Amino acid sequence: MKQTLPETEIHEGDYVLLYMSPRKTYLARAEKGKSFHTHKGYVEFDSLIGKECGSAVKSSLGFEFIALKPQLRDFIMKSARQTQITYPKDVALIVMFSGIGPGSRVVEAGTGTGALTAALAYYVKPEGKVYSYEIREEFIATAEKNLKRAGLKDFVELKNKDIVAGIDERDVDAVVLDLAPPWLVVPHAYSALKPSGAIVSFSPTIDQVVKTVEALRENGFVDVESVECLMRGMQVERGKTRPQTLMTAHTGYITFGRKITKL
Ligand code: SAH
Repeated sequence: MKQTLPETEIHEGDYVLLYMSPRKTYLARAEKGKSFHTHKGYVEFDSLIGKECGSAVKSSLGFEFIALKPQLRDFIMKSARQTQITYPKDVALIVMFSGIGPGSRVVEAGTGTGALTAALAYYVKPEGKVYSYEIREEFIATAEKNLKRAGLKDFVELKNKDIVAGIDERDVDAVVLDLAPPWLVVPHAYSALKPSGAIVSFSPTIDQVVKTVEALRENGFVDVESVECLMRGMQVERGKTRPQTLMTAHTGYITFGRKITKL
């Protein structure tokens, strides 16, 4: 059974996002003769196959689900996790500041769960490639599974290597880091990058940011900038609209830089 994403009509093998409410969504693969079980009853895939994405379907207990076409962020948020993942708000900034697009070649470390890897692959496909370094072999299998499920494995080379020991690739468009000591990778990133290439590093603590910024300034990078992105949800109802009480107050800081040609 070929794994695909629905275009307009849901076919067997397609992934669909069964949506009940913003907090109750399920990523499932439509398989003939099978059903998907939730706390609100089960949904039979036979009742979905052949329907348009966005169609409603009733569970065995009479609850309505909408079968949506999954987006990149759905695959990211539903990853089988083995590490903390990079959240969509941070992924968006990382992608924008990395300057990547279709055809780019990107070096990334560490792979972790592969959430950020999936996003990078999504934007460099179909001609580009992500070279993703991960020191812990046991993480690679899960990351690979997550990438396959999102249909992005072909655009990624997973490498069981320590990036602090060096980067094999040359002339890459961007180096993207999410690992504990990013400052140790800065000199390798300089050697791996194309002239004027970008480095982007995500770190949860300010101590890491200081060391990384200093390393960038000392190793041939300009336009060095660190930012934090706070995303606050709104509850919208006429006359009562206001920010939600709870938010994810901290994920991490994102540091950017661009390579200069040294004299
Ligand atoms: N951004 C990832 C999460 C990365 S967690 C995601 O979205 O899923 C950080 C990862 O870096 C861990 O898996 C850790 O094993 C890996 N790591 C730490 N040091 C490393 C090194 N020197 N080389 C390669 N990977 C490393």
